Amino acid sequence: MDRTLEGRTALITGSTSGIGHGIAMLMAQAGAKVMLNGFGKPEEIAAARASVGAAMGGGDAPYSGADISKPDEVRAMVADAQKTLGSLDILVNNAGIQYVSPIEEFPDAKWDAIIAINMSSNFHAIKAALPGMRARNWGRIINIASAHGLRASPHKAAYVTAKHGVVGLTKVVALEVATTPITSNAICPGFVRTPLAEAQVGPLAKEHGVSEEVALRDYLLEKQPSKRWVEVDDIAHMAVFLCGPGSGGINGIAFSADGGWTAS
Ligand code: NAD
Repeated sequence: MDRTLEGRTALITGSTSGIGHGIAMLMAQAGAKVMLNGFGKPEEIAAARASVGAAMGGGDAPYSGADISKPDEVRAMVADAQKTLGSLDILVNNAGIQYVSPIEEFPDAKWDAIIAINMSSNFHAIKAALPGMRARNWGRIINIASAHGLRASPHKAAYVTAKHGVVGLTKVVALEVATTPITSNAICPGFVRTPLAEAQVGPLAKEHGVSEEVALRDYLLEKQPSKRWVEVDDIAHMAVFLCGPGSGGINGIAFSADGGWTAS
């Protein structure tokens, strides 16, 4: 791995698992000092800190246990990252949750949680991180949106709403920083092989009375022409590229990594 992020510092929300952990690993291997955030069993958090710490050259990676559904905790997490890492050059808003239900039965509390975690947290983190980026005249903001930031699916009212909001926020921030060496971009993955997506296969198999293999191919990946998972590493490499040499002119873009989903 080329050390394209040597000397950079990064905070990645939701990096105890899935896509966030993959981005943290690759950014660490590329030379960045990384702070982790997210939930999990103590042993899972310890393993994430150890693996990313090893990629940074040893010891445990710094970690914030902030619940990003709470604006105060988001602000404290950004301040903690700035203090612990010495600065905050790269902010990756990645943490997210999912809930699937017809809108008439969609629980209000799930709507509120998804809007807070998947969308509003991005606003609060960017607002807190931008002054430091402006002061140092360099910054990278990457929001992990979704193909569902560009396309709708039934039964995902809160998720699709939040992800469309994230794409919109990405563009507004891009315009506000356009004259500076700071950029704001979104990555819009299709279905990526992580706990969040894999958890949707079992219920689909049950609903349609088919095996998990058939449910994955015919129902979950119905809209993904590749008919295979996008891999965590695909998203991680894109995130590292957006922070590395040659990325300065890329601003306000929602990059699809979705096996062809949004091509049609
Ligand atoms: P995941 O479930 O593996 O990881 C989610 C992470 O977010 C975990 O670390 C979890 O602890 C953290 N998290 C959840 N609620 C939190 C909270 N309140 N405060 C702090 N951390 C919290 O999921 P993933 O698939 O890696 O998803 C990561 C992002 O990618 C999400 O925003 C998701 O919407 C997006 N995404 C995923 C897919 C996919 O198919 N997996 C597709 C498109 C977009």
